[in-house]
Amino acid sequence: MHIDAPPPSQRNLLDLLDAEVASGSSSTPLQPSKNAANNTATPTPPGQSTPFTLAAASEAMKRARLAQEFNLTQLSQGPIAPIRGIDINGEDPLVHMSNYVQRGLENDSKGWTVKKSIEYLGAQTKDDILPGMEVRLLEHQWIGVAWMVKQETETESKGGILADDMGLGKTVQMLAAMSINMPAMDAKVRVTLIVVPAALLQQWKDEVETKTNGLFRAHIHHGKDKLRSKKDMKDLDVVITSYQTLCQDFVIPKGLEDWEVEDFIEKKGGLLARTQFFRVIADEAQYIRNRSTQSSLSLAYVRAKHRWALTGTPVTNTLADIYGIIRFGHFRPWNDYPSFNNHIIKVQNEDAPLAGERAQAVLKPLIMRRTKDSQLEGQPILRLPKKDIELVKLDFTPDERQIYDDIEGQTHVRINKYIAQGTLVKNYSFVLVLILRLRQLTCHPQLILAQSGELDDPSLIVGTDAEKERSRATKLMGRPWVESVIRRFMARAQLGFGDDDPALGADCPVCHDLFTTITGRLLPCGHQICVDCLEDRMNSDIAHDGIFGEGSEKENLKAEQEYERAVAQGLRPCPTCNQMLNLKGDKIFKSAAFEPTKEEVKENKRKRREAWKTAGVRRRPDRIFSDDDDDDDSDIEIEDGPAKKSFDEMGMDDSDDDFPDLDKIIEQPVKKRKSDQGNIYASGKLVGSDDEDMDSDVDLDGLQPKKKKKKGSNMGKKRVGKGDNQAMYERWARSDDDIEPSTKMIRLLELLKEWDASGDKTIVYSQWTSMLDLVDTVFSIHGITALRFDGRMDRQQRDAVLAAFKRTGGPKVILISTKCGSVGLNLVSANRVINLDLSWNYAAESQAYDRCHRIGQDKPVWIKRLVVEDTIEERMLKLQDVKVGLAEAALGEGTGTRLHKMSVKEIKFLFGMTKPKEQQTLQQMLVQPESDDDGADSDAIEEDSD
Ligand SMILES: [Zn+2]
Ligand SMILES: [Zn+2]
Repeated sequence: MHIDAPPPSQRNLLDLLDAEVASGSSSTPLQPSKNAANNTATPTPPGQSTPFTLAAASEAMKRARLAQEFNLTQLSQGPIAPIRGIDINGEDPLVHMSNYVQRGLENDSKGWTVKKSIEYLGAQTKDDILPGMEVRLLEHQWIGVAWMVKQETETESKGGILADDMGLGKTVQMLAAMSINMPAMDAKVRVTLIVVPAALLQQWKDEVETKTNGLFRAHIHHGKDKLRSKKDMKDLDVVITSYQTLCQDFVIPKGLEDWEVEDFIEKKGGLLARTQFFRVIADEAQYIRNRSTQSSLSLAYVRAKHRWALTGTPVTNTLADIYGIIRFGHFRPWNDYPSFNNHIIKVQNEDAPLAGERAQAVLKPLIMRRTKDSQLEGQPILRLPKKDIELVKLDFTPDERQIYDDIEGQTHVRINKYIAQGTLVKNYSFVLVLILRLRQLTCHPQLILAQSGELDDPSLIVGTDAEKERSRATKLMGRPWVESVIRRFMARAQLGFGDDDPALGADCPVCHDLFTTITGRLLPCGHQICVDCLEDRMNSDIAHDGIFGEGSEKENLKAEQEYERAVAQGLRPCPTCNQMLNLKGDKIFKSAAFEPTKEEVKENKRKRREAWKTAGVRRRPDRIFSDDDDDDDSDIEIEDGPAKKSFDEMGMDDSDDDFPDLDKIIEQPVKKRKSDQGNIYASGKLVGSDDEDMDSDVDLDGLQPKKKKKKGSNMGKKRVGKGDNQAMYERWARSDDDIEPSTKMIRLLELLKEWDASGDKTIVYSQWTSMLDLVDTVFSIHGITALRFDGRMDRQQRDAVLAAFKRTGGPKVILISTKCGSVGLNLVSANRVINLDLSWNYAAESQAYDRCHRIGQDKPVWIKRLVVEDTIEERMLKLQDVKVGLAEAALGEGTGTRLHKMSVKEIKFLFGMTKPKEQQTLQQMLVQPESDDDGADSDAIEEDSD
């Protein structure tokens, strides 16, 4: 075997290359092109036939074109001109060059049509399934597989580079090619070795097992499952290993002469070095681009008849990248480094266009690369069936309307009070809870009438619980950690909704739903995540970022080791900083416990005031929550907050009665706290009944759950004259077989009935597992069989549920938590979706729909988004429209808005406290200056009472 083969005459190679470049042929002389016309190079002018003249003419044209492309004319314009490409503003010329080379190779079908490919592979139609395969090939995949089989069986290279974009199915094409070109039954050499990043080991084995029909016996050669001898390999068809494990078998002692190396490896190397393979596949082949790395060398030394490099990014940095892959493939004659270096790499600096053309000529016969947005035979390469999304507007029943209005009315009282006192910002955590509760109310009143379950039950974090949680954190994480968390939460409490720091964010970094300190969990790294996403993450397979081998070998190795350690210990990455954490461990804390207490707020304020007095910092009057900036006692800035807002802008206050009555609002009080000692997250009823300004006649503490009995019988504690209501509330608080189906549930049942005849499968989404529980109950009453998929299930349970759902004749409905399995969950067996609740961020919703609207879906997809009119949900939708619209106008795109950033006006609109005047759009209302409004907003900032 020759890794760096002795160079043939350099002159010969050069002639060969340039004849290639000049003639526009897509092949090396060893592989005559079937398809020269399909080539991107300039066509041969007619009437000119000698290669030499041709070369000259064609070269001149190309140089002119490339000179333009690279702006190379500037290179030779005297002393004021830049002397090198690097001096020219813009892209790094090397990157520019590699992009150019790569682009020239894209979307070339090399003469194959879909029809021709199907015939070549012995099939009849594109819907046929290849023998040994379990899945149908897409059109571009038929072409890819035909090309690959031909590369293996009819060319000298016996392999090649499949460089399709991610998402086009490189793995399935590789497996299909393997199933067509099998080694003879009695062949001694039968095993295909697949080398992959450690993170993909299991995924590859799963693909071999699910995409093919038991054709290949596959083994992961890694860690404790390493094979010991060739005998162990006897009954295997596929061995999957990691780059790191492979390298261990190819350690070459120092001082060995070049000619001794191969002999040493074959005789004294590790098992993989001593084995002759039928085929070797380097997945994520960017690992081997750098020829000097151990991975690149080891792969090149592997002995195999067929050699494939799979990568989505064949050339990214420099043309030298190509060499590592060519050498791995033993693709002659270019696997000779001195000539590759002389003719391509070195030429980059002197004659970039020529180097680029040569690089393309070398790669062209070896590579197939299609891009996601390309066309194939006049159609987009990835064609999905149509997706029909309908917003289904519903009206509450009179019961539900009354309950909703009662409770929303109580939130108005509360919010008006905050606005009047200027404490809205300070109570921001609490306002978020109100938003959450009202959204749940549109699904089913029971969700808030009978709060249950530890996870979203605010009453579990009351005074002493919070203290316990903090002292637990102090013990496990140390005091400085706890203090820094409290400091950050303090800043958030003071900055409110306008904050941009993800560490403090009001939306979960995973599902992007608005979340609250109740549903928030603090990770050891100090970042937060919502409890649903936390559960989903800890129970899912470890997710990788999909970027492999782009660093140096040392960095790659470190990443691999980190990954393996994480797998061994069951760790998962923080969604914000990617640090590997034990999410099942005891170092996960309830965010609510770190909300600053009143004393801490006071103390913080006092300290800042003192700090200001010595420093004399000026405040900046640019806060969304404030239009008040002339309070001379307020020139204090907060170091912790990114926006550095001053206290008065934040609606800080010192007075006792201004302290948030959170305990009165969410649920019934579980514990009476001393006026100065409580925590603002202490639980309470939805709206305080002892409030003077309570104008609502329904008191939520009368509606509270069975499980909270500390106040004795809750039912019946309602205000006078509400006897009828009480019965109604009690009825709607049931979750047993006598459950009242909500408006959304009734429509859900109707839709399922209507769709039943179609035979299609349906996904039912809700963000709240408690809602899915209720739907489950309603389904069982109506005899509907449904599967359930949620974040608490472990991998095995998930696999079992998905397999059952996929099965023809299996259950036709699956209940899924919107927040669950966002990474890679494939549900194409369903093509109907009913979403019971809108997401705060539409992108999250859209991602959930795409679990069934993705490659593999062959039916139209029908999506129904249920929304109840005249509720917070519908207003949320309007607000989204306006805010996304505004952002689009400003940025030219619809992404990147932080919807949780809300002004007082937006909050009032969301709760239904204001609406646009006649002939006024919501947008006009929201952007209009405060003075034109009813004036209620301008008092958002309280007077500083000190
Ligand atoms: Zn989340
Ligand atoms: Zn983190």
